[in-house]
Amino acid sequence: MPNWTRRETIASLSGLTAVMSFGVAKVLGRTPIKITDLKCAIIGRNPVVRIVTDQGISGYGQAESAKPYLKPMVLFYKDYIVGEDPTDVARVMLKIRRLGAFKPWGSAVSAIEIALWDIAGQVAGVPVYKLLGGKIRDRVRAYNGAVRFPMTGQTPQDYAENMQKMKEAKEGFTLIKQAVGFHNPAMMRGIPDAWYDEPRTGASHPDRGLMTERGLEYVISCVQAMKKVLGDEIGLALDCGPGWTVKDAITFARALEPLHIAWLEDIITGDYTPYPNAEVFREVTQSTSVAIHTGEQIYLRENFKDLIEKQAVNVVGPDPEDVGGLAEMKWIAEYADLHGILIAPHGVFDGLIGLAAHVQLAAALPQNYIGFEYPLGQPEWWYQIVDGLPDPIMKKGFIDVWDKPGLGVTFNIPAAKARLTDADRHFFD
Ligand SMILES: [Mg+2]
Repeated sequence: MPNWTRRETIASLSGLTAVMSFGVAKVLGRTPIKITDLKCAIIGRNPVVRIVTDQGISGYGQAESAKPYLKPMVLFYKDYIVGEDPTDVARVMLKIRRLGAFKPWGSAVSAIEIALWDIAGQVAGVPVYKLLGGKIRDRVRAYNGAVRFPMTGQTPQDYAENMQKMKEAKEGFTLIKQAVGFHNPAMMRGIPDAWYDEPRTGASHPDRGLMTERGLEYVISCVQAMKKVLGDEIGLALDCGPGWTVKDAITFARALEPLHIAWLEDIITGDYTPYPNAEVFREVTQSTSVAIHTGEQIYLRENFKDLIEKQAVNVVGPDPEDVGGLAEMKWIAEYADLHGILIAPHGVFDGLIGLAAHVQLAAALPQNYIGFEYPLGQPEWWYQIVDGLPDPIMKKGFIDVWDKPGLGVTFNIPAAKARLTDADRHFFD
């Protein structure tokens, strides 16, 4: 029996039995741990953050793929956090959370926050979900926004055949999200004159405008064809925009009402839009029974306040790698739940460290949780450099929550080192 102090006894009386069972006396009596370094490497396509401490423990976080420019952004925060105790996650975050912005400029702050939780969990000897309030589910649902098959064309029949392949995917997803409308430039170019503007090139989702009658009916036909394949066995969510007019959005949503679509995502604003636009979303939301969803690009809980308090959407979808991290997401989920709003976290490009973070978070989210967007390891060799994930990762659309300390995944360092570029050669040293 450890020699508990009064503080530890109070902790035990507060019902922290789960934490105690992992040895809280040892944790509270520990030598303070300090951050000694902050590193960033681009491994494959994902920026990876490593926070190094003076006690041989490192924490890892990850940002969305295709952000090689993020490295100097991560290193910008180094002077703000070196010397701090990484287990005081909130206090470290006070130093840097003001210094981020909407996607993609919240990514570095978010990846650092996740790495702090990884350290805090390892120090306490508990999985991160215990530090986020404890789990309320033993397995978490993830939806398909990443497992894709090549399209053979852009007709409704092509979309139906492609959806059939997703339906049969080995992960056994219970919910599939498909890009339509302005979120799917190939679809919008699948017929001539789908909307009253000329197609624009480049990232990210630059097309917008008023749909033609032909364009709107074509998108509706594609959705109907896909839904027919899924029936009532698997849910269908639609990533739609941004870029729709309010009236087109309402007409589209009402046409889909008999189909029981899970949600319409980002139909007004969204991906890479640096504002939430609550009033406009509210008009759409109030005009249809189909759930309206947004949030993947939004940074910090403060920027969800209007969306939630004005009942502007039915589902929020922040990404832990853009919103400011795991505790930020927990706050937003709880606040949304108080207002009768659901949460379906975005995550398609979050990588395998991100997958681990999603699982830890989803285990502890309230009952307004639907499912998170399943990320893949890209390139495929990512699955060889990360240890600790279940095999297979998904069973019938769910992932069993694991109990290893921290995020519960570690790098196979020799294998991972072999994938580093010369610029990042000393990332693991
Ligand atoms: Mg989206």
